[in-house]
Amino acid sequence: MHAATTPDEIHHLVNELNFKEKVERSLDLISDARREHGDGLVVANSLGKDSVVVWDLAKRVSPDIRGFIVTTRYKPAATKQFMQETVARYPETRIFKNDVEIPEGLYATDPDRCCDLLKVQPVRQAIEEMDVSCWVTGLRCTEGRTRTDYLEVERRDEGLLKLNPILPWHEREVWQYIALFKVPVNPLYGEGYRSLGCEPCTHITTGANERDGRWIGTSKCGGECGIHTRPLKAAVPA
Ligand code: SF4
Repeated sequence: MHAATTPDEIHHLVNELNFKEKVERSLDLISDARREHGDGLVVANSLGKDSVVVWDLAKRVSPDIRGFIVTTRYKPAATKQFMQETVARYPETRIFKNDVEIPEGLYATDPDRCCDLLKVQPVRQAIEEMDVSCWVTGLRCTEGRTRTDYLEVERRDEGLLKLNPILPWHEREVWQYIALFKVPVNPLYGEGYRSLGCEPCTHITTGANERDGRWIGTSKCGGECGIHTRPLKAAVPA
């Protein structure tokens, strides 16, 4: 499988491939990476709609593929419950969390720092402890302004590949897959959310972009927590 090497190629795929072709392409990308990386291929599961699709695709490739979930003290109760159900069903999924003490309301005063401590650090820890050489994400290029320029295979960190196997999927196709293959999904989508994160930083919106409800009222609005933009092989603090 030839992974697209430019954002233009990706944007071409978004509208040129139909749903079935996108599913097949995603399965091929995961299969190729699994052959190359073996057990070093691990799925990052954020418990959102895109992640559950990627997880399901990975399990179709090989039931032995492992996963990790990064959770924080601020995740909604429904997401924590969904996480417990996921781990009970798939014990090959590990949970990572940073319980470090942080200033009250850091998510409002310095959301970048808060995300770095509570999200990016545990991802680094997962990659280190699970000996990951290829991590697999549910990133999609149609999600919002910050996600338009990614590639299916990224080489950001030395010794670590990142695979984004559903990068050219539309939001509709994610829901199509969930409905057709009866994939369990976080019940918060039923409340009207389109993108899920920590409780104080996630709101229901009806804007054009899926991620418009993230970090409303801060400079980070509609933006990123940092796991897709920051180095991940940096030393994990004790
Ligand atoms: S999403 Fe909000 S609460 Fe969660 S880690 Fe980032 S800033 Fe903190």
